[in-house]
Amino acid sequence: MSRRVPDSCPGVLRLHEAADGPLARIRVPGGRLEPGQVQVLAEAARELAGGDIELTSRGNVQLRQVRDAAELTGRLAAAGLLPSRTHERVRNIIASPLSGRIGGAADVHPLVPVLDAGLLAAPRLAELPGRVLFTLDDGRGDISGLDGDIGVHATGPDEFALVLAGTDSGIRVSAADAVDVMLAAAHTFLDLRGDEAGRWRLHDIEDGAARVADHLGLTPAAERVDFTAAQDIPIGWLDQDNGLVSLGAGVRLGSLPARTAEFIAAVDRPVFITPWRTLIIADLAEWAAEQVVRVLAPMDLIFDANSPWLQVSACAGRPGCAKSRTDVRADVTAAVETGRVLPPESKPPARQDIPTLPANELVVAGRQHWSGCDRRCGRPRGIVTDVTATDTGYRID
Ligand code: SF4
Repeated sequence: MSRRVPDSCPGVLRLHEAADGPLARIRVPGGRLEPGQVQVLAEAARELAGGDIELTSRGNVQLRQVRDAAELTGRLAAAGLLPSRTHERVRNIIASPLSGRIGGAADVHPLVPVLDAGLLAAPRLAELPGRVLFTLDDGRGDISGLDGDIGVHATGPDEFALVLAGTDSGIRVSAADAVDVMLAAAHTFLDLRGDEAGRWRLHDIEDGAARVADHLGLTPAAERVDFTAAQDIPIGWLDQDNGLVSLGAGVRLGSLPARTAEFIAAVDRPVFITPWRTLIIADLAEWAAEQVVRVLAPMDLIFDANSPWLQVSACAGRPGCAKSRTDVRADVTAAVETGRVLPPESKPPARQDIPTLPANELVVAGRQHWSGCDRRCGRPRGIVTDVTATDTGYRID
């Protein structure tokens, strides 16, 4: 008997009914958006939704309070942001944002459209749960530590480690084989998953990584690489290897106002959404990069790596989530604006030993994630202090 329950991950064709209205999630493989696509998203956010473009921790985007789903679908499809009606929610691919431009052992960006096309071309892969995450790390270690399901990690210019359930399998493949092996692993995951409920990810299958490798007939031969979540987010002026400049830009709580997005579109350069809910504006001449900082910094894009906004993240909270005990984003915004988010090396006042505190008395140092309940949605990987709303105030863990 099948115990399978429906996959509830939202998309464009299946909106999530959030407490503040319908929510659409738009997949952006590799996080890459062309300027025209940024413009389409900005107009859609303003004319058809709540006004902001939310960046997700998988390098996708979301629109809240969608008012006209049919019009949104048509606009996204015309802009190339909805190339499939059957596979839209399985296109979760993140890649090292700076790959091919700054450092890295290999350029993984050319693999993104090939992997995406391979997913779309296989009817059965439409059955992949929306939680399955593909990762492409160019060897710098910024992506493989994000606990994806199936991925590759460059160990040389033409050698990749096959990454399964977030760990190095010990199997090595060439660039030419990398996408085929990942697609075969995705098929094998579906074979192993069967009809049992709760197997949303490769991690949910006992010995899943080893069993996938076994099914593929591949033998682990190399010394395994350890992956950890990166703590350094690329922010500010970043010199590319070819003499051009990328700009890393922080976005307050990952929520990009439509008007700011329109200015970004007007820069007319490729934009990458990162898994840290920031942006990379790539391929700028130096003079253009200076202009972009001058125009966009006053519009609340963050180019200063020491900004307290880069220390904080938050779940949706009220009014977007009915489970939330409070308006988390308003509380964390107040904490930043009143200087209560301290640099990582600071020591917060002793009062933090009290079990819970009202929002306006919280002083927290370093990387911190604020949540409206214990589910802690959107919590980043790595070393993070949890600030969680309870019935009596916030608890710090
Ligand atoms: S952490 Fe809780 S309150 Fe926040 S978005 Fe998730 S379910 Fe809602």
